[in-house]
Amino acid sequence: MGDTPLVNDLQSLTDEIGGRATGSQANLRSVEWALARFREAGVDARKELFQMPSLWLERSARATVRGEGVSYTPRVAAMPFSTSTPKGGLRAPLVSGGKGSEKDFQALGAKARGAFLLVETAELKDIDGLFREYTEGAAIEERAFAAGVAGVVYMGSRPNNLLYRHNVATGLRNTRPMFVMERDGALRAMRLLRGGKALTITAELDIQSGPAYTSHNVIGELRGTTRPEEIVVLGAHLDSWDLGTGALDNGANVVALIDVARQMKRLGLKPARTLRFALWNGEEQGMFGSWGYTLAHEAELDKHVMASSFDIGCGRITGFFTGRRPELPPLVDRALEPVKGLGPFTQVDDPIVGTDNFDFMLHGVPNLVANQEPALYGPNYHARSDELDKCDVNQLRLNTAIMAALAYGFAQMDAKLPRHSRAQVEELTRTTDLLQQMKAFNVHEDWAAGKRGRK
Ligand SMILES: [Zn+2]
Repeated sequence: MGDTPLVNDLQSLTDEIGGRATGSQANLRSVEWALARFREAGVDARKELFQMPSLWLERSARATVRGEGVSYTPRVAAMPFSTSTPKGGLRAPLVSGGKGSEKDFQALGAKARGAFLLVETAELKDIDGLFREYTEGAAIEERAFAAGVAGVVYMGSRPNNLLYRHNVATGLRNTRPMFVMERDGALRAMRLLRGGKALTITAELDIQSGPAYTSHNVIGELRGTTRPEEIVVLGAHLDSWDLGTGALDNGANVVALIDVARQMKRLGLKPARTLRFALWNGEEQGMFGSWGYTLAHEAELDKHVMASSFDIGCGRITGFFTGRRPELPPLVDRALEPVKGLGPFTQVDDPIVGTDNFDFMLHGVPNLVANQEPALYGPNYHARSDELDKCDVNQLRLNTAIMAALAYGFAQMDAKLPRHSRAQVEELTRTTDLLQQMKAFNVHEDWAAGKRGRK
C-alpha cells in the first residue's frame, strides 16, 4: 500500500499508449513499455516471439438503416474477424433474426438469404451473461450461415449504446461482414421490422487484414536460487481491444504483476524456484501468445510447477479456479496463508477456458485462474468504457499482495504436482464441460486436430 508507481504505470499504459490490439502500433509500443518497466525495477526481462495467424484491425465502421420515410445511422463496431465490405458499402435487406433460435430461422425461411440478419440480445448484467453470449453466438452464426445470410448484426447487449468488440464465433474461418449495433439503434430497427416496415442496411466496414506475422510476449524473470530449473508462471495479457484503453482487461493485472516483481526485487526476496512474470500478447484473438510459449518451451513444461492467469479486472481476488486437480486447492490454500486477512479465499476446482491458462491446461501443467469479484468488469468488457477510472486501484494494490503470496508460496513449497499425460487431459475433457467451453471459444478444432495441447 506504500510507495509504488503501480497507478502511474496503469495510467501510462492506458491513457498514453491506449487500446493495444495485437498487430497495432500501440501494441508494439506496449511491448517496449513493459520491457522498460521490468528493467527499471532491476528485473531481467526479454521479448519472446510467437506467430499470429493473421492481422485484423478495424479502421472504421459505419452503417445506415433505411426504409420508406426512415433513415438513420446507428453507431456500429466491426466484430473481430469480420470481413471488409466493398468500397461504398454493402447494401442488403435488414431482417429480424429474433434471438437466432432454430424456431426464429424457420419463421424467417428464405428471407434470410442474402440479407443482413439482426439478432436480438439480452442486456448483459454479469460475467455469466458474457459466457452465455459466447456460447449462443456459436449456434446462431452456424444457423445464419447455413441460411445464406449476407452478414450478421448483433444488437448491442450493453446499455447506454455502449459499443464493444466481440469475436465472431467462427474466428479466422469467417467470410462475412459482422458487427455490433448500438442497442437503441438496433431496438428501433427491430420495432420497425416487427411493425411490417421493410428496411435495408448499408454497412461500410474498413478492416485492415493481413497474413501471419510475428508478435512478442514479454517475460520478466526472477531466477530461482536452489531450484532454478523449476518454473512458476504468473501471467496477464498485455494486449487489449481498442475501443477503450484496456484498463480492466487487462492493463490492471499487467501492472500488478510488474509490481510484484518490482517489490520482490526491492525486498531482496530470493525465490527457490524461478518466477516468470509473463505478459502475454495475442490473447484476445485466441490466446496465441501463451500458446506460442507452450510450443517454444515444450521441452521444459515438465518443470513448470504451476501457471496462473490473472484476467478479471480490478475486483478483489476471491480465490482460484484450479482446473479439476483435487491435489491443487490445498497447495493454493497454503500459499495464501500469509495473506488470509485479505480473504476469505475459495478455490473452485473446475477447468476454465477463455484466458491464458488454457494451453498450459492442454499440456497437463497445473494451472490457475484468479477468480475475482465482478466489480465493473462485465459491463465494460471489451467496451469503449474500459478505461482507467473503472479500476479500484486500492483493491488492485491489495490484489498484488495476494499475487505475491501465491508466487512466493509456489516458489518455496516442496510439493510439486506431476504434469498430466495426454490421456489425463483427454479424461478431463470427458468428465467436465471443458469441450463445450472450448467450442464456445472457438479453440476446440486446434485441439481436435492435434495442433494444440500435449502430444
Ligand atoms: Zn482479458
